[in-house]
Amino acid sequence: MKSFKDLSLSKQLNQAIDELGFTSPTPIQSEVYPIILSGKDVVGIAQTGTGKTLAFGIPLIQRLEALPPETQGLILLPTRELAEQVSVSLKKLLPSLTLALVIGGASARHQTAILRRHPKIIIATPGRLIDLMQSGIVTLQNIAILILDEADRMFDMGFAPQINKIIVATPAKKQVLLFSATMPPEIARLATKYMQLPLRVEVAPAGTTSELVEQEIFVVSQKTRPQLLEKILGEYCGTVLIFTRTKHGARKLAIIIRNMGYTAAEIHSNRSLGQRRNALAGFKSGKYRILVATDIAARGIDVIGIELVINYDLPENPDDYIHRIGRTGRANRVGKAISMATPNQAKKINAIERAIRTRLPITKTPTDLPSSRTAPPRLFSTNRTRYSSQNRPQKFRRKN
Ligand code: AMP
Repeated sequence: MKSFKDLSLSKQLNQAIDELGFTSPTPIQSEVYPIILSGKDVVGIAQTGTGKTLAFGIPLIQRLEALPPETQGLILLPTRELAEQVSVSLKKLLPSLTLALVIGGASARHQTAILRRHPKIIIATPGRLIDLMQSGIVTLQNIAILILDEADRMFDMGFAPQINKIIVATPAKKQVLLFSATMPPEIARLATKYMQLPLRVEVAPAGTTSELVEQEIFVVSQKTRPQLLEKILGEYCGTVLIFTRTKHGARKLAIIIRNMGYTAAEIHSNRSLGQRRNALAGFKSGKYRILVATDIAARGIDVIGIELVINYDLPENPDDYIHRIGRTGRANRVGKAISMATPNQAKKINAIERAIRTRLPITKTPTDLPSSRTAPPRLFSTNRTRYSSQNRPQKFRRKN
């Protein structure tokens, strides 16, 4: 399928797609549209930034238009940010669409009022949806299409019991669509339990990272990291997303970065929904050049033009590496990902390399690092020594 016109979409949808300036469907979109429109269940596996949201968003709207007026769609997502983003994308596509965003941290009264008006689509994180189901505010009897987005992450985050509860509250006869960038077999088994002969669509092998992201890794001691970070930040001039392992780490690092003279916001689960929204909006608008985040944000950020992703801490789970660096190199733009590992993390690097099926080039730590964390940013030469596969330190050579 080369063009959206081949889909016989409604006039309204065609017009909206034209206005968004999308000329042709992305590969995942052209693969799944005909299947979803025919009413079949789908397991869709695609790299981040490949147009996954509209891969289910456009046919969802089209199908709901053709079904009886009381039918609804339900999209379940693991994080508030991702839910908000999907809601913004669908609203942008079709402003007249009635939808309810049901997420924790926001006013339940407001969500209740919208749910009572019987929206066409409910976009929810599992916890708040279950709260509102238990208090009798929402029933899922009219759900005709159920979408589990970032399904692996939802199961990883321990949402399996809640997802089960939600699914059993929906009618037995429904269409189920499951999307994710990675699909470990145990999760695929769990998810397919709820699906009718799903068709698996894979536009790139699960776990591949965007070819548009150049990756490198530094092996440095914990205490050298702030200086290395300062040097790196001085070498780039665009927006930078930095990942830390813990929320306390994110808070502390944001302070260090501000002391270096940069604008920085932080996003993690110790921040209120309002603070998280402000941080993300400020990052998108350019108010903050740097956003420091824990993995909660890894799936939820669609900011065009993030120049650099820095893994200040390596992720706990190798799949998270894929999601983190997928925040750059989006929508056909080139991106860069730099990771910092400590000398005792060779095993973690090997696990990431196995997940991405690529060898990460280790860059030698520069010798001219700034001496103080609070020194003003300076520009440094970008001449770095790269290890080739021959002179790569023994410790970080891949075991075959
Ligand atoms: P996603 O993978 O859903 O996060 O989408 C990544 C980006 O691609 C978003 O900014 C979308 O607006 C954009 N996008 C989605 N579909 C298309 C398309 N057919 N052509 C161009 N850009 C698209």
